[in-house]
Amino acid sequence: MIAPELIDVIRLKPGKKVRLKDYDTGWAQTKELKELGKDIVKERAKEILDKNLEDLAEAQELLYADDRYSLLIVLQAMDAAGKDGTIKHVMSGVNPQGCHVCSFKKPSVEELDHNFLWRYMKSLPERGKIGIFNRSYYEDVLVVKVHPELLDGQKLPPGKRGKSFWEARYEDITTFERHLVRNGIVVLKFFLHVSKEEQKCRFLERLNRPEKNWKFSPSDLAERGYWGDYMAAYEDALGATTTEEAPWYVVPADNKWATRAVVADVITTTIRSLDLCFPEVTEEKRKLLMEAKKQLEKE
Ligand code: AMP
Ligand code: MG
Repeated sequence: MIAPELIDVIRLKPGKKVRLKDYDTGWAQTKELKELGKDIVKERAKEILDKNLEDLAEAQELLYADDRYSLLIVLQAMDAAGKDGTIKHVMSGVNPQGCHVCSFKKPSVEELDHNFLWRYMKSLPERGKIGIFNRSYYEDVLVVKVHPELLDGQKLPPGKRGKSFWEARYEDITTFERHLVRNGIVVLKFFLHVSKEEQKCRFLERLNRPEKNWKFSPSDLAERGYWGDYMAAYEDALGATTTEEAPWYVVPADNKWATRAVVADVITTTIRSLDLCFPEVTEEKRKLLMEAKKQLEKE
């Protein structure tokens, strides 16, 4: 398990203003980590990830067997922060039957014809399953806030689109999440916090390596131009939507090994904290099982 001090640093507290500059994008969030040094921290992170991958496979089986809770993992980040890689690595040991990934892109015409939460509501994980939202309803208070002209496509009733409009959306989101939690959907939200410098390196890598070219879209560079606006939108959104029941984690994302270890650890620890159990076999069913055994042995 990752040091509780680190989790305490990166788990946001409800009702507090968020300043992303205060959160390290690298690997040295605590005094203890700094003292250990990068090489040792990296080695430990890899061990933690490996251990968590085993534990996660087991925890997920139990979640499935118990069939009362589900887990919704929300991943938000700037481009190239590592959402796809995190999903690929953290979920590598999990039974595909128990896991479902939804990637949300620009909404379709049909989706724009509904309330903004509609398409996300339809994709929620059923009991026993892990659902991953690769981008989510938070885009509706992030990219849409940075580019308010996108609201025109949402065909909303007339009204001002100022501060109170966005505050109403944050309230919609926290109310929605409270509804999920009350119904057994555990909500975990990760903001992969990458620095602008590291994003530049990763973009250049995508441009320099032909096999990675497909990952780069010219619009990625345009969005990078709005970095400051995005950070402000993230700060407002994370601050307003961190609740006891659905907290945000600001995950350092300049080192992929750190991101993966932290995300895997939080997921495993969260599933473990639920009161899960394998279904009990009733006396009646036990008798039927014994009958079946006898019949098979007679064959
Ligand atoms: P990617 O995840 O890199 O494939 O990009 C998906 C794109 O869809 C991103 O540029 C998002 O900002 C955009 N997107 C996702 N959700 C929404 C939304 N609700 N409204 C507008 N754009 C969105
Ligand atoms: Mg992209």
